[in-house]
Amino acid sequence: WCPRCHTALSDIEVEHEDEAGELAHIRYPLTDGSGHVEVATTRAETMLGDTGVAVHPDDERYRDLIGKTVTLPLVGREIPIVADDAVDPEFGTGAVKVTPAHDPNDFEIGERHGLEAVSIFDEDAVVNANGGRFAGLDRFAARSAVKEALDAEGLLVGVDEHQHSVGHCYRCSTVIEPWLSLQWFVKVGPLVGPAIEAVRTGDIRFVPKRWENSYFHWMENLR
Ligand SMILES: [Zn+2]
Ligand SMILES: [Zn+2]
Repeated sequence: WCPRCHTALSDIEVEHEDEAGELAHIRYPLTDGSGHVEVATTRAETMLGDTGVAVHPDDERYRDLIGKTVTLPLVGREIPIVADDAVDPEFGTGAVKVTPAHDPNDFEIGERHGLEAVSIFDEDAVVNANGGRFAGLDRFAARSAVKEALDAEGLLVGVDEHQHSVGHCYRCSTVIEPWLSLQWFVKVGPLVGPAIEAVRTGDIRFVPKRWENSYFHWMENLR
């Protein structure tokens, strides 16, 4: 989603650039009071929409925590610790926060474990009512405010510099935001025949004519 153009983008319309970002390390207290789990994120503000923590099923460090819950800081939501093969045990602490509404991989983890998708942004990427006291803040202002609030509660372990790939809108270069929106898909099968026919009969004429071949190739390979 481009928060400036207010439109969904396909994956090929997203331009990725390596940028100097950050990795914030955050503590999520176990609900039963027996300790905490540390997660790392490049977008601290998205923690407001977390609905789970995931670990790799073979990761010995977390074996005893699977099935327990943590209490999400600043929000107070009780969220489960789930085991999922998609987690890379080498990334950060090996425990990852799961934000189904604002990360495509997390969305899939959420689907597999029945986690709710809590959207925390409006169409401008400004925090909405689900963000509680952070509502009304732009995502980048929210990033700072969330880190400050976590720090005040002693739950911000640290922030490291981190080089990573960031997706930008191909039209306006705004940083894209993974965002759930309603998408419409047109069933193109029945349209292909008449569309090819219109060019073959000359009702539609290509200038220059050689582009007809690209057109036919495109039409004949639509799914
Ligand atoms: Zn844009
Ligand atoms: Zn950028």
